[in-house]
Amino acid sequence: MKTKILIIYTGGTIGMVLDNKTNTLVPFDFEHLYKQVPEVEKFDLELSVKSFDKPIDSSDMTIDAWQKLAAIIDDNYQLYDGFVILHGTDTMAYTAAALSFMLENLGKPVILTGSQLPIGMIRTDGKENLITAIEIAAAKNHGTPVINEVAIYFEYKLYRGNRTHKYNAEHFDAFKSPNYPILAEAGINIEYNYPCLMPKPSGELKLRLDMDGNIGVLKLFPGITPAVVSSVLHSNGLKALIIETFGSGNVTTQEWFLNEIENAVSQRNLVVLNVTQCNQGAVNQGRYATSKGLLKAGVIGGSDITFEAAVTKLMYLFGNFSNIDEIKTNLSKNLRGEITAA
Ligand code: ASP
Repeated sequence: MKTKILIIYTGGTIGMVLDNKTNTLVPFDFEHLYKQVPEVEKFDLELSVKSFDKPIDSSDMTIDAWQKLAAIIDDNYQLYDGFVILHGTDTMAYTAAALSFMLENLGKPVILTGSQLPIGMIRTDGKENLITAIEIAAAKNHGTPVINEVAIYFEYKLYRGNRTHKYNAEHFDAFKSPNYPILAEAGINIEYNYPCLMPKPSGELKLRLDMDGNIGVLKLFPGITPAVVSSVLHSNGLKALIIETFGSGNVTTQEWFLNEIENAVSQRNLVVLNVTQCNQGAVNQGRYATSKGLLKAGVIGGSDITFEAAVTKLMYLFGNFSNIDEIKTNLSKNLRGEITAA
């Protein structure tokens, strides 16, 4: 029996072609994939394509769209051996992280890819990205999938989805996974980094559709005013706050600031997560005097989590757990390979 792959087109540059009449980029009908990328017909695979009714620029991504995507994978889980999601690059890392939390016990590959140049353009990076993403989604070892997780394939590299960050708006090489090794590299062969891949889960796939968007972010800078800090901390409906801190998780030691944070945690049960502004490395609360105050205030250290994974992990935890202590415990745990922790 042929290996079956489902390609889901959500939108983004990869699916665009130049409309000669209007001279603008318009989404092409992905049902006619073979016309645009005839190479994929040569695969000895059974490929099916599903497209969002209205393809979106990924900057318009929503929790609703993530739920739709996760539900498509769940509905088709038994029918296909792997999934390829075509997605705009701008929020691809958020979608990959969100899906990693929404698809608990994932035992098949879910590979996101896209491109910097539309597939209808001569110099497009989209064809290679799509063709190799399909090959990775179909890869098996003794009959079982090589990849058991949500990953991003881009410009010859496969990254763990919830470790990835878009760091370049121009280059073909647009993504990085600064705190986790790449999962595979495509050259003449696709070389998998086996020790770093997610093992096959023991349980059945569990769909975790609920995501709570009441998450706030406070990015610190020297000179930030008490009024700004206070307005973020008192936002309507706020359940969790990510503080983007300096270096290994450091903040100002000014009393007004630490009091605001301490009150929010102890009196209003706000969950506060410390994530570094640095692109690489981890938060280590207590290492410097400038982070001891946060530790004392009950702020949780985010370890080496990306901002994208921090946002979606909090959405997932507040969507699926009601007990604050349970949420805090899970926040410090490595749930889907998103942090280096016990
Ligand atoms: N703005 C586009 C998007 O993210 C860019 C891209 O497709 O890469 O949807």
